[in-house]
Amino acid sequence: MNSYHFDKDLTLQEPLPEESIRQAVAVLRSGRLHRYNTTAGDPGEAALLETEFAAWAGKKYCLACASCGSSIYMALLAAGVKAGDTVLCNAYTLAPVPGALFNAGAIPLFVEIGANHTIDLEDLEKKAALGQSRFLLLSHMRGHSADMDAVVDICTRHNLKLIEDSAHTMGAKWNGKKSGSFGLAGCFSTQTYKHINSGEGGLLVTDDPELIARAIIYSGSYMLYDKHLSRPDDEIFKAVRLETPNYSSRMDNLRAALLRPQLGELDANIERWNERYVLLEKGLRDIPGVVCPLRPEKESYVGSSIQFNLPGASEGDIRRFLAANEAMGLHLKWFGEAEPVGFTSTYESWRYLGGQTQLPQTRLILSTLCDIRIPLTLSLEDCEQIVSIIALAAHQTLPANLRDH
Ligand SMILES: *Cc1c(COP(=O)(O)O)cnc(C)c1O
Repeated sequence: MNSYHFDKDLTLQEPLPEESIRQAVAVLRSGRLHRYNTTAGDPGEAALLETEFAAWAGKKYCLACASCGSSIYMALLAAGVKAGDTVLCNAYTLAPVPGALFNAGAIPLFVEIGANHTIDLEDLEKKAALGQSRFLLLSHMRGHSADMDAVVDICTRHNLKLIEDSAHTMGAKWNGKKSGSFGLAGCFSTQTYKHINSGEGGLLVTDDPELIARAIIYSGSYMLYDKHLSRPDDEIFKAVRLETPNYSSRMDNLRAALLRPQLGELDANIERWNERYVLLEKGLRDIPGVVCPLRPEKESYVGSSIQFNLPGASEGDIRRFLAANEAMGLHLKWFGEAEPVGFTSTYESWRYLGGQTQLPQTRLILSTLCDIRIPLTLSLEDCEQIVSIIALAAHQTLPANLRDH
């Protein structure tokens, strides 16, 4: 009875640029894959990527890491988080974020999210005012930026050090300022499903000389920090080198070689993502019962995924809705499952943290939150087909009272 059959793979990324492949082959031919295996005239791809990314981000320093999760963990430690310290964090995020908190020995104090999926500023203000924490780890989950003017204001008034998880906001801006540049440190991911692709990888940026010195040593510099181009003077390292362990979380020259050419293509790709996003968003907004989060005018986003809620839908409604989409070949992610499925785990399942789990507002939003990746391998026609499928599934499965808005 359904005439649609969607057969695109939503996990399929585009091939890497030829220049990335050429540079990577050059690294392979040299045998110098380890970032510190350099020669007099050649600082290595990792060191070059760091200077280029710091310049791109508008920050003084950058460290290339094994993953964004490891860069968050090292940023927390380098910012001064000690075992047992409380860290404020929005409750809606990806599993590597609670993992990084756990790794740092931090105790999270989760903050609610609001209707548009970003941190609830009132709850943040309230929890910051408790005075239990000196840190905010803010995760721009699924590419949504909070009101960063307000966040920075709260951090300033309550003396909170801000660390941004910009894994999904590389290239996004708030009021013209780049995501990841608002706080003490910003962390980015170069994992395959983010905005530049080296399989795995992370980039930590900061203006703080002591933080970057500690992070470089944490990442496993074997005291070869003088091989970094993006770094402060030796004096800064001397002050911290013997009190900073080696956590072996470096990026290698091969992955850095893949990334450098992609940085130059990022802006063009952001336009392509947003072309798809705008089309999907417009289509989804026209479907009765489906609500997309509002994107404030000050936010310039990278639409590499799209989210929507089905307000008022019961678990049964959602399961029927998801099944109808699935029957037409469209697999949607849903953040309402009790147990983690794929990347959609929620704060309730991070039991190792032993933190609070009473976040009724976040629970309610997640219970009807659906998600679709937007890889650039999707054509605009594919996006139109996705809208048609979701419209039909909503029509077939959502109760009439949810559809009459
Ligand atoms: C992907 C992602 C991470 C972790 O990135 P890795 O490089 O896989 O460690 C963290 N936070 C968010 C919001 C992400 O999307």
